[in-house]
Amino acid sequence: MKRTCARPGCQRHAVATLSYSYADSVVWVDDLAAEAHPMIHDLCPEHADRLRVPRGWERRDARVGSVVGSHQRLSA
Ligand SMILES: [Zn+2]
Repeated sequence: MKRTCARPGCQRHAVATLSYSYADSVVWVDDLAAEAHPMIHDLCPEHADRLRVPRGWERRDARVGSVVGSHQRLSA
């Protein structure tokens, strides 16, 4: 079963899963979860990388092979 990005209008393949830890105000970016879940969102690589978190929240990238601290910005 194919999973696509949860962003409206985005049909790309999902490779990452987003989840919110409300207790810690942390947004986690993980490798794609094995199963879809109502509380998590699947994202394509581009949207996962460009993800912005609400004020006061922290984005933590737990993906295997992710480059921690890289903030590449697409100029598009
Ligand atoms: Zn996307």
